[in-house]
Amino acid sequence: MNAPASETLQRLAHILGPHRLLTAANDLQPFLTDHRALYRGHALAVAQPETAAEVAQLLAVCNQARIGVVPQGGNTGYCGGATPDESGAQLVVSLARMKRIRAIDALNYSLVAEAGCVLADVQRAAEDADRYFPLSLGSEGSCQIGGNLSTNAGGVHVLRYGMMRELVLGLEVALPDGRLLSSLTRLRKDNTGYDIKALFLGAEGSLGIITAASLKLFPRIRATATTFAAVRDPRAAIELLARLRAASADRVSSFELIPRLAVELTVRHIQGVRDPLQASHSWYVLCELSSSRAHDALETMLSECLEQALTDGLLADAVLARNERERAALWTLRESIPEAQRRDGASLKHDISVPVAAIAEFIERAGNWVREHVPDGRLVAYGHAGDGNLHFNINQAPDADRSAFLARGDTVKRAIHDLVRDFDGSISAEHGIGRLKVAELERYAPAVELDLMRAVKHAFDPNGIMNPGKVLR
Ligand SMILES: Cc1cc2nc3c(=O)[nH]c(=O)nc-3n(C[C@H](O)[C@H](O)[C@H](O)COP(=O)(O)OP(=O)(O)OC[C@H]3O[C@@H](n4cnc5c(N)ncnc54)[C@H](O)[C@@H]3O)c2cc1C
Repeated sequence: MNAPASETLQRLAHILGPHRLLTAANDLQPFLTDHRALYRGHALAVAQPETAAEVAQLLAVCNQARIGVVPQGGNTGYCGGATPDESGAQLVVSLARMKRIRAIDALNYSLVAEAGCVLADVQRAAEDADRYFPLSLGSEGSCQIGGNLSTNAGGVHVLRYGMMRELVLGLEVALPDGRLLSSLTRLRKDNTGYDIKALFLGAEGSLGIITAASLKLFPRIRATATTFAAVRDPRAAIELLARLRAASADRVSSFELIPRLAVELTVRHIQGVRDPLQASHSWYVLCELSSSRAHDALETMLSECLEQALTDGLLADAVLARNERERAALWTLRESIPEAQRRDGASLKHDISVPVAAIAEFIERAGNWVREHVPDGRLVAYGHAGDGNLHFNINQAPDADRSAFLARGDTVKRAIHDLVRDFDGSISAEHGIGRLKVAELERYAPAVELDLMRAVKHAFDPNGIMNPGKVLR
């Protein structure tokens, strides 16, 4: 290690004390690889601050010494954003020790949580106050609020409550120059100039480190009605969604599209998962209505709508969850699709979105391309169809050669992303850019937008210390 680096480490240790600055190779290991194991980095050290003031001081030191800083939350991100590069010169800042719920204001329907709070703990804290925090993802037992904010996470309730960006009232952020932006407002209305906090949402740690957030709460959910329905095709699914929204006074909180192969993979690879319907069908939806009124007639509403859809030929079959156990089983099927895919072999993944009304046409055109050009792959296009978001994944066929299949990745990505552009869609609907999609962003974002992003980056982080190489080069 060179002299300046060791001097910087001493200054960092002075801020944190020796036990919260990890430098031993063994201690660093858990922080060096991303969730999907796409990247493996090295680090100068891992800092474990406990207060916002400590985070700000760390950044001031790193800024002076021009040390790159990589914020890390639950490390469940899909784009390698929380992993340091291979240089061994970057500091990982783990927010895991900052996990206090600082305040809950039930009357104001808001809560202040530190960045390292695990999402499931925030959901529970809201529930204890008879309120509801709606962000919900498969990784909610380990992802953190800071990571959710920084990736502008989506999940299964976006249709009703919006993405993370829409759930935020205020932020506290440590800036690269060592200042602390303290804007933990609980206001619903505030038109005093630029919305600075908005820039940190989805910035993936490239502008500063979020240390706490003031979040919106909602009335606690007291009734749900959940169905797993076999739809004629994706077009019928979107027609069904439009009908359900109107018939239920917009109480649809989730609407997930699931292809037959995803059901087969979960039944095969995930213990306890069963096919909810007797016969097999090409496409399904998992749909949930929810309400804060315990006696809302959600099931009646849902059944009537499903019956009409059966009569009109949109549906072939459907089951309603009769109790919490059956509901949980349906959600386990949905949430374990990524894991089942992983266990089945290699896959090529695309987190895309198109306008909701265009989903069926996209699946048709992209599906045709895949069938023609990827004979050793099988399409598993599933996801948050109610938001126009598909995880347009292709799994390796059972007898396919893994490396030959993966070697097609760039060609497939180009074709899929070009098609997404033709549909005015997005090449990253909810997982962000991280390191994985930097070149894709450069290719598809409008030049003016990229210019403005670079100008914002320079204004906040002129020395380029914040998460170098992520989002922007
Ligand atoms: C099983 C599974 C299901 C998932 N489902 C969904 C889904 O439905 N929808 C969805 O959107 N995502 C989903 N994800 C992806 C992932 O869980 C989300 O992106 C999540 O928001 C990341 O949170 P994290 O704390 O793990 O962040 P990390 O992975 O640790 O970090 C993500 C990015 O945020 C930055 N960052 C982290 N904390 C801070 C901070 N305090 N300040 C500044 N920057 C910070 C990191 O540097 C990195 O760039 C899923 C992942 C898994 C494994």
